Amino acid sequence: MANIKCENCGNDISSKASSCPMCGHPNEKDYCISMGEQFVFLIIAIGIIWGVVMGLEMHFENKKVDIYEQVALDAVEQYNIVKQAEEHAKICLHARIVTAAYLQTNDEAKIQQWKAIEEDECRM
Ligand SMILES: [Zn+2]
Repeated sequence: MANIKCENCGNDISSKASSCPMCGHPNEKDYCISMGEQFVFLIIAIGIIWGVVMGLEMHFENKKVDIYEQVALDAVEQYNIVKQAEEHAKICLHARIVTAAYLQTNDEAKIQQWKAIEEDECRM
């Protein structure tokens, strides 16, 4: 066990001592992070990582919904183009595509609406 000089009073103290027994000056050179502090750092690190991961997840979750909504809107556009051409078989098919596209979103109202349209267009 090496002895070191106290930074404050010059007294010989053990390098393992947490403070000088003479003056009470903390021995910072050999200062070890206590278990309690290690635990706190670990919790903070986990918190930061968790925050980043959740942030990214939410970001991608939003992106995914945007993409599905865009796909559904594109399908509606296709449907409207075909409907103008009045090709019955294609109208039915495109109504099905729109319904399928909306099934990927969580837009329950749109799903029900397009299921009804699909049924209507495909009946004839
Ligand atoms: Zn001292």
